Amino acid sequence: MEARFGKYGGQFVPEIVMPALKETETAYEELREDREFQNEFKFYLKNYAGRPTLLYDATKLTEYYGKGRILLKREDLLHTGAHKINNAIGQALLARRMGKTRLVAETGAGQHGVATATVAALFGMDCIVFMGTEDIRRQRLNVFRMELLGAKVQPVDSGTGTLKDATSEAIRYWATNITDTYYLIGSCVGPHPYPTMVRDFQSCISRELRAQCIKDYGRLPSHLVACVGGGSNSIGFFHEFLEDKRVKMIGVEAGGKSNSENAKTLSGRGRPGILHGAYSYLLQTQEGQVVEAYSVSAGLDYPGVGPEHSFFKDEKIAFYDSVTDEEALEGFKRLAKLEGIIPALESAHAIAYLDKLMPQTTERDFVVVCLSGRGDKDVASVAELLGNKQ
Ligand SMILES: *Cc1c(COP(=O)(O)O)cnc(C)c1O
Repeated sequence: MEARFGKYGGQFVPEIVMPALKETETAYEELREDREFQNEFKFYLKNYAGRPTLLYDATKLTEYYGKGRILLKREDLLHTGAHKINNAIGQALLARRMGKTRLVAETGAGQHGVATATVAALFGMDCIVFMGTEDIRRQRLNVFRMELLGAKVQPVDSGTGTLKDATSEAIRYWATNITDTYYLIGSCVGPHPYPTMVRDFQSCISRELRAQCIKDYGRLPSHLVACVGGGSNSIGFFHEFLEDKRVKMIGVEAGGKSNSENAKTLSGRGRPGILHGAYSYLLQTQEGQVVEAYSVSAGLDYPGVGPEHSFFKDEKIAFYDSVTDEEALEGFKRLAKLEGIIPALESAHAIAYLDKLMPQTTERDFVVVCLSGRGDKDVASVAELLGNKQ
């Protein structure tokens, strides 16, 4: 199992974390090849999360651009409303196999906290979610959701009271409670083995998609488009097509509001450095201080990115670009109006990218967009944003 993707990845963690990390690595290495474990994972994907997800032929959207064909991979139809549940189920099953009885996670906007609390409830495990006090204030509804699901939300008021402070506390808790606690990371970031493991769990998306394309359309996609925060829905969406050199893979980052307020880690001013235990592109100052990311969508608002994407960028295996907040909002409205599907603001970035992509396509092109999540969680904030503009 690869610990590095080219020069990216690795395990840059404090010594006290190493034993817990090694234990996770050894356990996953074994279970990765274990048929019974893989069958168990598939069972819950099908019978709890709701896989396979639809490959939807977006004819109205196609008509709007006037050529090619646009399809949507409907991860928004999964239980809890996004692809995050795929990974949460996989890691919770691993934790259970390792004999752990408690899941620990950090969360910013609360989406990953909710996914973790959900699987903890499903598997009868304890769950502690570390969350900055500022984020708790901003995301009250998700805090209540996690509590309904039986999780304990642990406020962190050090630093700025946001995600990075919550991450430090979650890791500290993990390192000191290693006998019964498993640390569940929500994207393909962090030290090895997390990026590989999260990618493996999310690859169910592209395995399914590849089979659906062949069975229903007798061909492979010409383009794959997905939004990139930490990079987990996109990496899972690309993975089964890596050998197919003619499939173009495009990751769309948050262009935010301006040149200084965005989350363009790969498509903008990011440079390689170490963040959250791995070497990868990240937003930083000349002196190497991590710069806060910004996006209208909380799920894309992250200064780092998974190390495998950094490798893909350098090797030109995938291509990375961005769309602004404003363009994403247009994509959000367009999909709702044309197809009757309200996308998550994160996914709306991938939809909005069609404005850039479709003019360059031909009649025969076959574009699949990963609709990573549904937009119910964003409706209130979009109402406020659009209201403010009028
Ligand atoms: C969290 C989230 C993302 C961003 O995370 P990735 O790891 O880049 O996939 C994208 N879309 C939705 C709906 C999310 O909840």
